[in-house]
Amino acid sequence: MTKKPKFQEPAGMHDILPGEQRYFQKVLDTCENIADFYGFQRIETPILEQTELFSKGTGLSTDIVQKQMYNLRTKGGDYLTLRPEFTPGITRAFVEHGMKNLPQPVKFYSFGPLFRYEHSQAGRYRQFHQFNLEVIGEGGPIIDVQIIQIFYNILQELKLKNLIIEINSIGDNQCRPYYKKLLVSYFRSRESALCVDCRRRLKENPLRVLDCKEEKCQRIVSQAPQLIDHLCQECHHHFKGVLELLDEIELPYRLNPYLVRGLDYYTKTVFEIFSQEQKKSEDEKEITVRNALCGGGRYDALVKLLGGEDAKASGGALGIERIIELMREREIKFPRAAGPQVFLAQLGTMAKRKSLKLLEDFRKARILTGESFGKDSLKAQLRTADKMEVKYTLLIGQREALEGTVLIRDMKTGKQETIKLDKAVKEMKKRLKK
Ligand code: AMP
Repeated sequence: MTKKPKFQEPAGMHDILPGEQRYFQKVLDTCENIADFYGFQRIETPILEQTELFSKGTGLSTDIVQKQMYNLRTKGGDYLTLRPEFTPGITRAFVEHGMKNLPQPVKFYSFGPLFRYEHSQAGRYRQFHQFNLEVIGEGGPIIDVQIIQIFYNILQELKLKNLIIEINSIGDNQCRPYYKKLLVSYFRSRESALCVDCRRRLKENPLRVLDCKEEKCQRIVSQAPQLIDHLCQECHHHFKGVLELLDEIELPYRLNPYLVRGLDYYTKTVFEIFSQEQKKSEDEKEITVRNALCGGGRYDALVKLLGGEDAKASGGALGIERIIELMREREIKFPRAAGPQVFLAQLGTMAKRKSLKLLEDFRKARILTGESFGKDSLKAQLRTADKMEVKYTLLIGQREALEGTVLIRDMKTGKQETIKLDKAVKEMKKRLKK
């Protein structure tokens, strides 16, 4: 057994090696192209923000703030946190830069790493990436639906199948407090049958009991009053609008009255997108495996809470690692990025010098060109050229270097021809066009 190296990736964090980069690039390109079409603009906010932004924005009673934040104190005494999610940072930027004065709504997209101190398990990392959308400055149901539609389109474009949208409304400050009271009184009378976590949630964030995964809690939840039956008129009207629009664009959704999501700032619409498939368990039983790929919702009170003027908003995020894992598992193929079409081979010191200069000419002419200047043997260089599957190899040997020429070899036919070195780029352009 080989000895483990002294230094390794921190638990729950992963290197993204060159071989994986093309997946990240493909997912990001797809996300950006689609978001671009819908008029979203990229925004980047710092990875560190004031701790209070999250305790206030994400919410004190959430798992994220209570258990999952990476906090630090700077030498200057500031309390900062590695962002566990995008929304508070982007909302802060919206307020700080006075974007209320721009034509509304403002549509942002972001891509980058997030940090949550999670228990390590498959698909849950402590550093992971999201593609995030936010629309700030508009309150209509059509915005919620458009956000869901964009995420769904991205997943479809990436050829992911068996997608399920789950949707719910968790009301607002008008109707939720009353519903919470109802819920608490329902659970109180059954408290001893709830799991330990839910007994705590009952005090701090009773809605979270609704999405507990424990079987005994789910049985109690299935009889609990549902918020959908207690929405105020405005929330009811909004939710009806969302569902009608989803029907209109024929997106397949499922109403899930127990979907509450982990964060305090959500109002009205919340949603998640899952990929679902049937698999055989180890004991040969058919099981349904669900993978959460995306989540989001409306947050009409957050801008004001973080010090801005009232501005309604809605957003969501895609989990990039989960998407890539699925693409790999399902062997989804996509075209490789184009490789070099030309290879420069050289023999001798003078030829090496000329090749270095010639490579720059090819770069300026935007012709992808391979080389292995570190190698001296021609055979080894030609082997590399073969591996790169180039169309032409250009060879500068000692004689060519002296004469100011270059030998062109057509890798398919094996035909060779000598031309003037200063005509090489022009000649290659001509041949590659054919
Ligand atoms: P959330 O921000 O919790 O609503 O998550 C949105 C999406 O990000 C989820 O559906 C997952 O695909 C992904 N995600 C959330 N947490 C993690 C994590 N710890 N590791 C990897 N992906 C995650």
